[in-house]
Parts: sequence; structure tokens; C-alpha cells
Amino acid sequence: MVYVVATPIGNLHDVSERAISVLANVDIIACEDTRRCRKLLTAFNIQATNLISLHDHNEEKMTARVIDLIGEGNDVALVSDAGTPLICDPGFDLIRALWKQNLRVVPIPGPSAITTILSVAPIPTHDFRFVGFIPARVGARKARLKQLLIDGSPILFFETARRLSSTLEALCQLEANERQIIVARELTKIHESLYFGSVEDVRNEIAMKDRVRGEIVCFLGGAAKAVATNVDSMLQILLAELAPTQAARLAAKITGETRARAYSRALVLANEG
Ligand code: SAM
Repeated sequence: MVYVVATPIGNLHDVSERAISVLANVDIIACEDTRRCRKLLTAFNIQATNLISLHDHNEEKMTARVIDLIGEGNDVALVSDAGTPLICDPGFDLIRALWKQNLRVVPIPGPSAITTILSVAPIPTHDFRFVGFIPARVGARKARLKQLLIDGSPILFFETARRLSSTLEALCQLEANERQIIVARELTKIHESLYFGSVEDVRNEIAMKDRVRGEIVCFLGGAAKAVATNVDSMLQILLAELAPTQAARLAAKITGETRARAYSRALVLANEG
């Protein structure tokens, strides 16, 4: 069987006893980076005997290899560099293949940047959307943010220190400046810092820092009033890909607007270009 083992996102003491026991007892550990995994194992006096590397660039090949290894009677643990595997980390192909072949997968839960930020956020957490990383290129990032802001839901996303300021700036430009946000840097590590406030306040606070470093995760609170009712912003996005009839049909479904009204707005917007 394959154990999917969560590992610390910084503080090594966050590893669970069960995770340690599994890592110490499996035949093979499939990890993103063998050096990083070896460090973790060494910290817990586990003999790193059989490590194999499974990362974004060899996942297809290694999936077949892991399945062979299981067929030969080995138990395998899957770990990523930090946190919970598969959450923006390798392992999806493998897990899908295991299910397909009716092989057993066992979750060994533990740290994740997602649950860690949620656990300290003064923002309701019962209904949010996790979107992974926002695109790196400025134009693509702004377009993605614009699309994500439409329905007013809280959004959890990973960010890099280098791009944080420009993402906060983009959110302000997209009129999300009054929404609440919590930005968490270096969670569970020595330089852990949390920033909370309106997007505008947090943007200003971060702008005053010399330089932001480390790993960042952000949780943006929901809009006070959902923008979903704004059929025009929905149509603007849909019209970039679809003909007015199709765009209007979808926009009407999503926003609750009548199809006729959505269609007449779609024609106006399409003509405006
Ligand atoms: N699978 C991991 C998890 O469950 O947390 C996430 C992997 S993803 C490739 C790495 C991203 O997670 C980082 O770029 C950062 O956005 C976020 N992250 C990971 N560790 C973090 C930490 N200690 N503090 C803040 N964000 C963190």
C-alpha cells in the first residue's frame, strides 16, 4: 500500500508520531527531493535506506515504477518537500493510478500551509475557495484575480514573497481594497509573521518593509456584497472566449439575470469591444 504522509512546513516538531512511525517502517519512501527528505529522516534518527525521487518532471515514469514496487510486495510512503502531498505538490498521477488499480492509499494527515493559516484567520472559514498559485506574469495574474473576485467568495492562495506587493496592489486596483485579508509569512518558522486588515492596510504595511522574504500564503475574506450580480463583469470575461449568445446564456445562469437582458448587454459589450 501507499501511505501519503504530511511533513512539517517549517517546524520539525509538527511532524506526527504516526508519520515518523510510517517513515521508519515502509520499504520505500518516494519523495520530491531526496536531500530534503534525508534531513527530515536524520532529525528523527530514521535510517534513510530506500529513497526514490518523484517530482513534477518524472512523475509519469515514477508512477509506473512505484506500482511495480508495490506489486513486488513493498510498502511505499509518499512525501513532498513540505506539508501535505498533492496540495500544489507532486503525487496526483500516482494516487490516480493507485485508485485505478484498486490499490490501497492511506492518508497520514498533518501540516499544511492551508489549514495552518485558516486556524488563525479572523475570517470565516466554512466556505472558501483554494486556488493554488496565482499566475506569475502581471497581465495573467490580474486577469485571474479579476475572475476570482467575481463571485465574492473568500479565496485562499499561495504567493511568493517577490510578487506579494504587486498582488496586493492588483487587488486594490480591482476594487477589493476593502476586503479583509490575512497574509502569513514563514508559518511555524522563526520569522513567522502574520498581517491582517483590509487589503489596502496590509498593502501599505507591507510596502513599508524593506523587503519581504520567505514563504507566503494569503487568505482573502469574502466581499461584503457579492459582485456576482454584476452581469457586465461576468459577460466581459465570457465574451473574450465565447459568442454573445453562449456568453449570455452562461452569464444568465450564473448571475440569475434573465437570458434576454444578459443577451442585450452582451451585444452592447461586444460592440464596445
Ligand atoms: N503541500 C504544501 C502544503 O500542504 O502546505 C504546499 C506546497 S506549495 C508547492 C508551497 C507553497 O505553500 C509556498 O510557496 C507557500 O505559498 C506555501 N507555504 C508552504 N509553507 C509555508 C509556510 N511555512 N508559511 C507560509 N506559506 C507556506
